[in-house]
Amino acid sequence: MKPILSHGLIWKVGDGLSINAWKDRWIPSLDSSFTLPPRPPECMSERVADFINPQTRQWNWSVVSAVWPPGILPKILSIPLKFQSHADRHIWAPHKSASYMVKSAYDLLWQLKNRDRNEFPLTKFIWKIKLPFKIRFFLWQCCKGLVPTSELLASKGFVVDSSCSLCNHGDDSQYHIFLQCPFARAIWLQQQLHALVNIQALSFSQCFQNVMKSLLSLSRHQTNDYIIRFGASLWWIWKCRNESRFDGSQPDTRRTLCSINALVLNV
Ligand SMILES: [Zn+2]
Repeated sequence: MKPILSHGLIWKVGDGLSINAWKDRWIPSLDSSFTLPPRPPECMSERVADFINPQTRQWNWSVVSAVWPPGILPKILSIPLKFQSHADRHIWAPHKSASYMVKSAYDLLWQLKNRDRNEFPLTKFIWKIKLPFKIRFFLWQCCKGLVPTSELLASKGFVVDSSCSLCNHGDDSQYHIFLQCPFARAIWLQQQLHALVNIQALSFSQCFQNVMKSLLSLSRHQTNDYIIRFGASLWWIWKCRNESRFDGSQPDTRRTLCSINALVLNV
């Protein structure tokens, strides 16, 4: 029963001194199977206490927002902090009463069994890809469906322009930007990846996972080459989206393909 207990237990944030922000389970609205991203190399904050203003006992927004992805940020900021600091403590997470109940332990055991059967450890594999850290972090966001598009920001209550700045027709959603947008389709087509990047998937993250699984079934040499090219292409499509959205620059397929090739050759 001990491994089940460790999956069901979660830290309740007090002073944050006992909790490793990047390794421990402490964000209650995240599923027990959710893998936190690794600490970015430039981030020196390791304990949850490092993200709390000790004077006001509020989350230190600038420190939290600088290092946590947009999909996780609101979940951290919504964790209540008591003004009177107290020691962190473990609570039982799966049931609302936060007390251990046999039924919820069995429910959790069932979920874990199914997860182990169905889920490929892709998120762990992503951190081993031979690409710069910022691109691996971006690919982790792709895998989790956490790329900060207008669609994702709108779902968090932000008011943003929702149209695709690459083609001015579709939505600024992960599904459109990476799968449907004529700009992205041209990038996939020019690299003979258009059949692999299938637009029939239920979601972009589902498509991402399917492509990665297909590429991992190739020989080791081919797998590395294709995965790096696939990752570099996604990164450059996203970079072009940001440049057209924030700098008003026109997306250029030929120039983008040159950038992808340069990145692939230099890793
Ligand atoms: Zn578009």
